[in-house]
Amino acid sequence: MLGLMQSQELLISSLIDFAERHHGDAEIVSRRVEGDLHRTTYKDVARRSRQVANALDRLDLAFSDRVATLAWNGYRHLELYFGVSGTGRVLHTLNPRLHPDQVVWIANHAEDQVLCFDLSFLPIIKAVHARCTTIKHYIALCDADALPADTGIPGLQSYEAWMGAQPSTYTWPSFDENSASSMCYTSGTTGNPKAALYSHRSTMLHAFAVALPDSLSLSARECIMPVVPMFHVNAWGLPYAAAMTGAKMVFPGPAMDGKSIYELIEAEGVLCAAGVPTIWQMMLTHMEANGLRFNTLKRTVIGGSACPPAMISTFNEKYGVEVIHAWGMTEMSPLGTSCILKSKHLAMSAQEQMKVRLKQGRGIFGVDMKIVDAEGKELPWDGKAYGDLLVKGPWIISDYFKGEGGSPLVDGWFPTGDVATIDPDGYMQITDRSKDVIKSGGEWISSIDVENIAMAHPAVAMAACIGMKHPKWDERPIVAVVKKPGAEVTREELIAFYEGKTAKWQIPDDVVFVDAIPLGATGKMMKTRLRDVLKDYKLPSA
Ligand code: AMP
Repeated sequence: MLGLMQSQELLISSLIDFAERHHGDAEIVSRRVEGDLHRTTYKDVARRSRQVANALDRLDLAFSDRVATLAWNGYRHLELYFGVSGTGRVLHTLNPRLHPDQVVWIANHAEDQVLCFDLSFLPIIKAVHARCTTIKHYIALCDADALPADTGIPGLQSYEAWMGAQPSTYTWPSFDENSASSMCYTSGTTGNPKAALYSHRSTMLHAFAVALPDSLSLSARECIMPVVPMFHVNAWGLPYAAAMTGAKMVFPGPAMDGKSIYELIEAEGVLCAAGVPTIWQMMLTHMEANGLRFNTLKRTVIGGSACPPAMISTFNEKYGVEVIHAWGMTEMSPLGTSCILKSKHLAMSAQEQMKVRLKQGRGIFGVDMKIVDAEGKELPWDGKAYGDLLVKGPWIISDYFKGEGGSPLVDGWFPTGDVATIDPDGYMQITDRSKDVIKSGGEWISSIDVENIAMAHPAVAMAACIGMKHPKWDERPIVAVVKKPGAEVTREELIAFYEGKTAKWQIPDDVVFVDAIPLGATGKMMKTRLRDVLKDYKLPSA
């Protein structure tokens, strides 16, 4: 017997319809490429998304055709999020931090038909458009009078002229909720990048999960700032979850430095901000140097790479801001876990609570996790056994776009490439990327643990641990360190700093001071590039 409930496809267009009707006056504030602060509302975003939909229909695109963006976080990008997917086309967010050759490769692989870009990326488009073989329409995200002349880009139009002339009425089509809605290529540290292709259904279910109190906790009383870019994994799904709940959104646009982020948080009364550790490191350095405090910020969601313990305590103890450590991947839409304490943890000492907060968190409903050993045998959830982390659920990929790389699944589970423990309460802790684990004398050393200790030293701004070949131990860890401006620490002092904080054999053999750690297009440390930089390095003990 079937249930007698109405059947309705879960479609992204319903989010902006809802936000318009129920939270029409909630604000969307954006720092623009032009430099000014722009204010709009869900009502206006909804109206303009419909104009985008009409404009796209006029371009004679097929259902599921890809419409690419190369843009910062801002209201126009948000309009494209709803306008493109709402019509049944696929929003393809390109990452402007990639090398132009990679942008070309990805745009051609995705067979993008339209490219909408912020003017700051005009030089990239000028350099690559002749090699982007499928793109027929170029739209600059600017006012008509800001459109530069003589760009050499055929048929270039301004966004405002392109969509502004269209009617603001539009009936969103209904179609299968399993249809593709958006796509994002993985960071691709090895080989060519592969694309995760999200569906309307997966995006909607993920948005429900993101909004839950024990994940990122969104509501109509919230003011959130996604610092995490809309060009990578849909800004962790926040634009959808915000429309679902009517939260005010504040977009930092291109101004991603510590000072600008801090000032925007203060000016707009942001309560919750989400981003990768490198962004927060810049902001905390700025605040420390200028003796600043927060007046409104209550929570930061930190993910994308491991959040150093020192960052959690600085936010918590110095500024009274709760850190929600979260973990996920492009292939997971991205949210997998978030670290929120259970009520039984609240009575614990701050030190005991910290041990929990450091973990990547509990799985949210919809994400199944398991850890397995080298033979694929499931390991216990005892917080000690570590193994390869596998996940499954309705917002986790089943295949990559165009079947690249063959089926990624193992018995229906997606191998994340992370190595982790899971404790009896279900809190998962990443010990490493499987390719970054240091194998020393038959034991594993977590590069994250080594980095976290270095990062707790007051003179250290950033630390990256890599394994170096060793004739006896196979590999030994060394740590590359960037010092804070004006701070001093010696190799010997830093090695001594590890004493008592970790097992003796896990203490790095050497410290190498560097000017910068290479970062990839999504703000993660690029250890492969660091290895290239240190290719002539010899271990003192080898
Ligand atoms: P991406 O697909 O670019 O978002 O990268 C996903 C990978 O980033 C994961 O598989 C992890 O290795 C890493 N990652 C994401 N969040 C965290 C976190 N909170 N702690 C440690 N690693 C993380």
